[in-house]
Parts: sequence; C-alpha cells; structure tokens
Amino acid sequence: MEVLYRSTRGNEESVSASKAILEGLASDGGLFVPQALPSFDKTLDEFAQMDYRQTAYEVMKLLLTDFTEEELRYCIDKAYDGKFDTEAIAPLAEVKNAWYLELFHGPTIAFKDMALSILPYLMTTAAKKNQIKNEIVILTATSGDTGKAALAGFADVPGTRIMVFYPKDGVSPIQEKQMVTQTGANTRVIGIHGNFDDAQSGVKKLFADKELAAWMEERGYQFSSANSINIGRLVPQIVYYVYAYAQLVKEGRIKAGEEINVTVPTGNFGNILAAYYAKNMGLPIKKLICASNDNKVLYDFFRTGAYDRNRDFILTTSPSMDILISSNLERLIYRIAGEDAACNASLMAALAGDGKYEITAEMKEKLGDFYGNYATQEECAAQIRSLYEDTDYVLDPHTAVAAAVYNKYKEETGDTTKTVIASTASPYKFTRTVLSAMDEKYADMDDFALTEELEKISGVKIPDAITKIRNAPVLHNIQCEKDGMKQAVMEFLEKQ
Ligand SMILES: *Cc1c(COP(=O)(O)O)cnc(C)c1O
Repeated sequence: MEVLYRSTRGNEESVSASKAILEGLASDGGLFVPQALPSFDKTLDEFAQMDYRQTAYEVMKLLLTDFTEEELRYCIDKAYDGKFDTEAIAPLAEVKNAWYLELFHGPTIAFKDMALSILPYLMTTAAKKNQIKNEIVILTATSGDTGKAALAGFADVPGTRIMVFYPKDGVSPIQEKQMVTQTGANTRVIGIHGNFDDAQSGVKKLFADKELAAWMEERGYQFSSANSINIGRLVPQIVYYVYAYAQLVKEGRIKAGEEINVTVPTGNFGNILAAYYAKNMGLPIKKLICASNDNKVLYDFFRTGAYDRNRDFILTTSPSMDILISSNLERLIYRIAGEDAACNASLMAALAGDGKYEITAEMKEKLGDFYGNYATQEECAAQIRSLYEDTDYVLDPHTAVAAAVYNKYKEETGDTTKTVIASTASPYKFTRTVLSAMDEKYADMDDFALTEELEKISGVKIPDAITKIRNAPVLHNIQCEKDGMKQAVMEFLEKQ
C-alpha cells in the first residue's frame, strides 16, 4: 500500500515520501505526516530473528513506499556499518530493573547519529528519483549535537554539501573541537558572533531568501534541511524501538505481545514521537514516559492541556533538551485533533502569535498513552551519582533526566511494567557535568583530562570519536558576524 504524506496545516496535495524528504517542511509551514500509519507485516517473533539492518528495512519499507527495495537496502547498508562501534548498532544494557537502549554508538556518540547517518543517502536517492540535478546544500544551525552529527553524515557524500553555523562562544570545547576538525571537501563550519537564536534565525532567513535561491539555481544548487522535522529523520527512529523490543523477546526477557513502557528524554519531541508511531504500527507499548528538564513546557502541557512557551529559557546541564518550542509535538496535536488540519493550524497560529494554546477536553482524552514529568538539574546530578554508586553504570545528563523521571513515574503509579529507557548520549560527550555530579575534585580539570578520569572510574574505553579529535588539526577556522551569513554561503558555493 502506497503511503503519501500531507501537511499538518493544510489540505494541499499529498506528496510521495521521497518528495517529503527533499522538501523537509511543507510549503504552508506545516510538517509532513503519513496519511495513514501502516501496521507491521512481520510478527514480533519474526523481528526477534533479525539484525538491525533487516529490522530497518522491514520497518522503513512500510513508510517510504516509493523507494525500491534495492534503494532502501543500499541506504541502510551505507548508514549502519562499521562507523558504529558495535555490531548491534543499538545495544540494550540491563541496569537496575530497566533496560537502557544505547543510541550513542555512532560516529558522534549521540543519538542524532541514528537518523543522520542514513538521511544523506535517503536524500540523494530521493533527489535521483525526482530527477533533481542540482547539488543539495544542507544548511544547519546548531547548539552542538546536531551540527556534528549532520557533518559526519553528509561528509563526502556525492551530490551534497553541508554548511554548519554555530555560536562561537556557545558550545562546549569538545563540541567545538568535534566540528572544526571535520574532514570532507564538501563541508564548511562557521562560528558566528552571536548566540544560537541568531544562528537559527539567520539560517531561516537564508532558506526564505528568493534572491539567494535564484543565485544558487543558476549555479546548480538547492537548499535542503537536516532538521529533526524532516520525516527522513523520524522514520529511521521508529526502527530502534522495534529492534529493542525484539531483542527482549529474543533473550526471553518478555513474551511476544507483552506490553512494555518506554521512557524518552525529550526536547523537540522527535524521539518520543517515533516511539508513539511504533506503538500505533503495532508495537506493544503501554506508556510513553516523556521526560523533561527544567524547561518543562511538555510536563505542563500533559498535565493541563495548555502549551505555554511564555517563560524564561533555562540553560541546564542537559542542553539538547533546552527547548521551549517542541516542533514535533505538532504532529501529535494534528493526530489528537482527528487529523483536522484547520484546527491544528489555528493552534499553531496561536503559538506563533501569543506563544500559547490550549487543546479541547476531547483532545486531551486522547493523550492517555503519555505520562509527562521533569527532573531538575539537582535531581539529574543525584541520579548520575546514585546509579553509579549502585551499579558502576555512568549516565549522560540527558539519560539521567529520563531515569529520574522514570523513578517518579514508578513511585506515583506503582506500575512495574518492564521499561526501556532511551539513552541518548555517551557520558563522554558531557564529562564535566557527569564527573561534577560525582565529586567536586574534578572542577579544575580541562575537558580532555576529564575524559581520562571518566575512563578510570567507568571502565568504559574512551570512544574513538573523542580520541580522534584530540590531536586532529583544525580544518575550519572561519568566523562571521550575524549579518554575514549570506556572504559566507556564497563564498562557500563559489569554490569549485
Ligand atoms: C536531541 C537530543 C535529545 C532530544 O531529542 P528530541 O528528539 O529532540 O526530543 C535528547 N538527548 C540528546 C543527547 C539529544 O542530542
């Protein structure tokens, strides 16, 4: 059955999966959603016999229906290979009555790799299918993690270029080093004199710049987006929930059909939405536990039905969850509105205008699959420390937020259903926060010295992703002003 994609905001014509991936965002500003979610056509016992790549094919073929089997298998084989440091790709670690689904074994040691290692192949395949001759230029603003994962994914992929803008003084030393040492003739990294919002709004302006688009068209380029609202990022994320469940069946930890809970540290609502889609496609999930940090907009939303971004933005120790506008939530709103695009569009207009909206009681009733809560920075640190003291397992701060929220859920509900916790980053990416949670003595050490300390106490080898950049030469040493971004793009594209 062919699955087409339509916008959450309008009733414009539906497009194929490959077009939706190329376009990223619908022209009316809405997000592409599948017209109907298909059901799995393999049983859970069959999934239990598959490796990661086979699982990926069986899940993704149901949603990316205009890709041929050969195309899809090519994309999957290119993505999930030796750049992951384990054959399992996404292994499960059983720690203290929960399973941590480790999504950080890719090239940049954060979960963004799960989707960004396949997106470049999906995108270039989609371009071919749609007879697009232009080179695709990926433009990204990053506060740290997305930029590096996108660079690693697109580096040296024929037919693409990638350009990343980051706030010069707004990322961690390790994050900056990861980006400025990026190899690949088609990559460019630029530090801007401004904050993340300046970078983000600058990129949005470039996407909307008609004059620039014409200049690029003349030279055979067009923009696309590797942002988390692209369905080419959402679909690959459904895979690892199916894979995790199937591994539990295979190991005899659950019976096929038995319900599990899933806990996800959430920012833009992409990862947890993928779990929700997996549930709707037939994976036996009972509760989707949505974990937030001090920026607890989603917790308030699940509790009251009112979404309100009018509040202070709090910089926390789990920066990838510091978000007040959770973009992918729009896809859930659309669904609980009975796929009523007009209703969703008016709520999103209220969000853009007043910074808030409230759903109806009828819509709120459809949120029963979700439980929301949050953990403060102190609770996050306490969680890192106590789990380490009990088990020697070291969590990164984002995963620690999820673990702390899961404990609150258990206490509140008494529900002891077996639970998978999405583990979204290696602790090596956030050594300062992780080690400070354990002992004050680490406060004065530099970030690379801290990685050695972490190796000593955790017994987990320093990942290649860190060793490789430590002495790597800086290949990108360009900075620009907030209003110099367009010029920077043109300079990059002029070069042959
Ligand atoms: C991006 C990110 C998240 C949040 O994921 P969403 O899909 O945006 O909800 C959580 N943890 C880490 C480490 C991340 O990089």
